[in-house]
Amino acid sequence: MAAIGFIGLGNMGAPMAANLLKTGHEVTGYDLVEKARAALAANGGRVAASRAEAAAAGEIVITMLPAGPQVRAVYLGAEGVIARARPGALLIDCSTIDVETARAVAAAAGDSGFAMLDAPVSGGVIGAEAATLTFMVGGEAAAFARGEPVLQAMGRTIVHAGPAGNGQTAKICNNMILGASMIAVCEGFALAEKLGLPAQTLFDIASKSTSQCWAMTGYCPVPGPVPAAPSNRGYAAGFTAAMMLKDLRLSQQAAGATGAATPLGAAAANLYQLFVDGGAGGLDFSGIMQFLHRTEPVTTKS
Ligand code: NAD
Repeated sequence: MAAIGFIGLGNMGAPMAANLLKTGHEVTGYDLVEKARAALAANGGRVAASRAEAAAAGEIVITMLPAGPQVRAVYLGAEGVIARARPGALLIDCSTIDVETARAVAAAAGDSGFAMLDAPVSGGVIGAEAATLTFMVGGEAAAFARGEPVLQAMGRTIVHAGPAGNGQTAKICNNMILGASMIAVCEGFALAEKLGLPAQTLFDIASKSTSQCWAMTGYCPVPGPVPAAPSNRGYAAGFTAAMMLKDLRLSQQAAGATGAATPLGAAAANLYQLFVDGGAGGLDFSGIMQFLHRTEPVTTKS
């Protein structure tokens, strides 16, 4: 069992740290928020007084932070993870961030003699609680081999995607596909309603036809067909529209940097921007169904 420093104990980090504790690892954690620190202590973890103390406490240091700027802030600088981690520690960032930051921080870690993995996740809070997350991991093969057993305590599917940054690349491509497919499913159900076809009938047919996809069969955005989906509880998140917008923006930033053509990804980013601008950032991302139900046609930003 490993000694693990864990920084970022929010919606995802808290249950991930709890699962590490359940499987016998020793966890020393830190978060800016007192309530998050108290929750770690209640689960049997040790609370550090700073990110530097948490970084120094582990053979492995795991971070689960909101976005790229927080990852830079936590890893770099005199009090950062790279300056304060134990010699030989393995650093694992599980946040969803831009590929450029992931590669820059991994390079800074490498310059100081640390192996680092970018290991963003899919599966949401439910997957984090159930230890069924999918980890998509970028970094050296030897670092992956060291990190894999610890990731297995928090997830079910652990995939090595290649060198540093490839985990983030897989994550933003996955979520760009998800955002676009969620909107496509919503549009199909909205059109069916206008034409007088009940949602359940469309679901029964489409879920066995060529438009079948996870956004429909795992997370149906209309209430009824998939009882566990957020559509049945007023679109309480789940995975918020604000987070989907963040990931779609990351995809568009990467598409711009590489010259990739992603017109549907761009349209999805624009629609989620309008949805979030309307005050729905805290709703589940499938709540965009309500937005597409508006009677007038929706125009995206150019
Ligand atoms: P969250 O906002 O609930 O948690 C982030 C935590 O980081 C907060 O508790 C915050 O206080 C802490 N933090 C921020 N800056 C810090 C610092 N300098 N030092 C210490 N702690 C700091 O977010 P979350 O839902 O747990 O998501 C975390 C990451 O996981 C994001 O990148 C998100 O995109 C990704 N993700 C989330 C989900 C989901 O369903 N929530 C699913 C997949 C991936």
